[in-house]
Amino acid sequence: MSRSAHPAGPRHADVLTEGHYSAPPADLNSLDPKVWSSTVTRDKGGELTVGGLEVSRLAEEFGTPAYFLDETDFRARCRAWADAFGRDADVFYAGKAFLSRAVVRWLHEEGLNLDVCSGTELATALDAGMPAERIAFHGNNKSEAEIRRAVEAGVGRIVLDSFQEIVRVAHIAQELGTVQKAFIRVTVGVEAHTHEFIATAHEDQKFGIALADGQAAEAVRRALKLDGLELIGIHSHIGSQIFDMAGFEVSARRVVQLLAEVRDEHGVELPEIDLGGGLGIAYTSEDDPREPHEIATALSEIVTRECSAAGLRAPRISVEPGRAIVGPTAFTLYEVGTIKPLEGLRTYVSVDGGMSDNIRTALYDAEYSVSLVSRTSDAEPMLVRVVGKHCESGDIVVRDAFLPADLAPGDLIAVPATGAYCRSMASNYNHALRPPVVAVRDGSARVIVRRETEEDLLRLDVG
Ligand SMILES: *Cc1c(COP(=O)(O)O)cnc(C)c1O
Repeated sequence: MSRSAHPAGPRHADVLTEGHYSAPPADLNSLDPKVWSSTVTRDKGGELTVGGLEVSRLAEEFGTPAYFLDETDFRARCRAWADAFGRDADVFYAGKAFLSRAVVRWLHEEGLNLDVCSGTELATALDAGMPAERIAFHGNNKSEAEIRRAVEAGVGRIVLDSFQEIVRVAHIAQELGTVQKAFIRVTVGVEAHTHEFIATAHEDQKFGIALADGQAAEAVRRALKLDGLELIGIHSHIGSQIFDMAGFEVSARRVVQLLAEVRDEHGVELPEIDLGGGLGIAYTSEDDPREPHEIATALSEIVTRECSAAGLRAPRISVEPGRAIVGPTAFTLYEVGTIKPLEGLRTYVSVDGGMSDNIRTALYDAEYSVSLVSRTSDAEPMLVRVVGKHCESGDIVVRDAFLPADLAPGDLIAVPATGAYCRSMASNYNHALRPPVVAVRDGSARVIVRRETEEDLLRLDVG
């Protein structure tokens, strides 16, 4: 499948390439628990409910398109990750997947830590009361102002991404009369995606410092010398939507090798390693993600084995799941508009949102599923492509899926597993008003990020 990304989606000529779809599911009305959040079900009338609330009522109250986030499921996933990794490891939720003040409070209450990668993500986290020492600050181009803010706030760790940044952070910390705990982000030469990974010696990418050619060792050498820094560990993040642990195995082995070199050269055993995020979720019924406890066991076995081979004490492990926590907790609710059957091809179903609320299909050829949720239907399955209302033929939400043939304008359809990288990557293309995020729990629903309004847009446009 093509990974070429045009900023506005696939090139026009790419749009009608052969899709990927299997046979229609046996029952179009069934809701696969793999892709829907835990409180989603159909009521007696056949309507989808989340947290006990019917989608027609939710649509009436909050409008469409809108993201509905299952708070019960979100909190359960936080607990599952925290429990799986236990006391000897730290789970950092990657805020870039979806960040809001309510989410920060939930994370805090459930005992998780938080990754941020901009000054404004940091501001959101601090504003919502996340203790600074539980925040990690990432990014390949942190500004001096951002670094200063993070050091002043007392963030628990800054993940250093370049030689220049090592000096910059040390200098700012010293100026502020403090010592900043830090990790060095290394690139281990592993690129992992879904079921595959590529291991190479060199990496052509903007993040981190290469292990190759002794560069990461040199970075450690410099960081250990600087008074403003306390180097506590090595960080590696290898990809996204990963199902296969083999990439982590190679990455952990290479990171542990570096720890051993550091011990041999400096007599210092760095106490921590951070293996990053990227754990996969089910977007369709064909995906089979691992449970947090399986991932925790696998990672800890890998690290223990590599360390004992190198004669090192096993370091404290951090992980940074973003998608794996928030992704499955939300769905996007749309109202069906124009329906256009193309004889011998497929039926185009247009919804009232599109690439402005979910850019992932256009950007990464991401796959999603979709269901009719305002009612059930016994009609035959029809092959559809769910598209948005934007002026761009790459504006596709679900490339290939089946919906009942009696689908009609005004029906509500929902795309599950849109909790991660949808609202956080939403845009105002065509002056779309970005949809709200509504948290649902135990029969009540409340807006945690409100819908943008025309006034919001016009206020930014100063004329
Ligand atoms: C994006 C990112 C994550 C989270 O990735 P997910 O695929 O959402 O789990 C974690 N750590 C770093 C450094 C990242 O850049």
